[in-house]
Amino acid sequence: MTFTQLNLHERLLRALDELGYETPTPIQNDSIPHILNKKDVLGCAQTGTGKTAAFALPILNFLLDDEKNYRKTRVLVLSPTRELAIQIRDNFRQFGKYTHFKCSVILGGVNQKSQIEVLKKGVDIIVATPGRLLDLVNQGKVDLSNVDYLVLDEADTMLDMGFIHDVRKIVNHLKKERQTMLFSATMPDAIINLVKEFLKSDHVTVKTSAISSAAPKINQELYYVDKNNKVNLLIDILKKDDIKSTLVFTRTKHGANKLSDNLSRSGIKTEVIHGNKSQNARVLALKNFKSGASKVLIATDIAARGIDINELSHVVNFEMPDMPETYVHRIGRTGRAGLEGTAISFCDIDEKKGLSEIERLIKQQLEVINHAYPMQNFTLSPKKQTGRSFNRNTASKKTSNPKNNNHKGYVGSRPRGGRRSK
Ligand code: AMP
Repeated sequence: MTFTQLNLHERLLRALDELGYETPTPIQNDSIPHILNKKDVLGCAQTGTGKTAAFALPILNFLLDDEKNYRKTRVLVLSPTRELAIQIRDNFRQFGKYTHFKCSVILGGVNQKSQIEVLKKGVDIIVATPGRLLDLVNQGKVDLSNVDYLVLDEADTMLDMGFIHDVRKIVNHLKKERQTMLFSATMPDAIINLVKEFLKSDHVTVKTSAISSAAPKINQELYYVDKNNKVNLLIDILKKDDIKSTLVFTRTKHGANKLSDNLSRSGIKTEVIHGNKSQNARVLALKNFKSGASKVLIATDIAARGIDINELSHVVNFEMPDMPETYVHRIGRTGRAGLEGTAISFCDIDEKKGLSEIERLIKQQLEVINHAYPMQNFTLSPKKQTGRSFNRNTASKKTSNPKNNNHKGYVGSRPRGGRRSK
């Protein structure tokens, strides 16, 4: 299938051609015809699958078919994070380069005055985070009565972030006879309920590759390491030559800041993004990272969702995620656009249980790498020394020699025995 065969408007095809989009991705192939056929769509797709174009292209196509309602807000896209919202707006602008539609973001964390000014002039497409949009709706600053197309993007994150009440209130301001598209990477029961609530009963479900299948081009490496040695290990890894651009995940905002301070002290320039950073600080951090001025970006899960960086060489799980699905989201940030990527996970004793859940979900065991800071509290089994060694001059030799490992250090494919994880 080509974009031309999807019956898209010539003005959109021209923009796609310039962007270098040759063939539609599976989610685009499967969703676009249904959306053009005026069906509500439930899309099960994670970031990196091309889901933005899957909804943005047919929506722009509709707007081009009916230009008389120019500058009335006919499209509303709700996004859980500011970064994702900005990215969606940028995509609409890129795809709509040869149209005259106006697409703007309504975001929290920035002064609302300029947003109100933009709204006054008329906007065809609003991409918004729910909280700020609801504020403006309540103040009577935004008119949603003409919205024909509603997109709820990353609906599962929206639920996780507690936005659902705001989303409900916003949807109450929309007309019933609209077309709704809901995208979610995971499908917990709460999402299924939302689907029943917001989508027509004859909606079409479109799925991309199952959540359990990590992208094939991602090497997934595992380092068993004690908590207090994670920083040292990360510094060693980051100093290797093949590390070009690394996204490092921490569980908490505080953890992200602390890690950044530690790395900076070792001369490694890092950027940090998380929910407590101002919008300007986040934009600057992303700019420095994308330009290569900093090769390390430290992020929390929520802040990282929706960041569009195509050429990440490495993703590091400095702390293992709480949910196994989050692991798949995280590592999906590398190995994109057909490039190879490496996902590195640091697992300490308390994280072992979560690791087992991840391996069960992805139906694969991560490759264990030997290194200079082996995990304590595991009995060695020389027979199981099948893991690769992380070649860090002197210290790594210690772990690759079983004789040196008569203490609690771990070398091998799996730790056996020892203390049970919680
Ligand atoms: P998304 O899942 O919408 O965040 O898209 C992930 C990345 O894939 C973005 O950088 C898009 O620009 C890119 N992309 C989306 N669709 C295509 C396509 N059909 N061909 C090439 N690149 C694409």
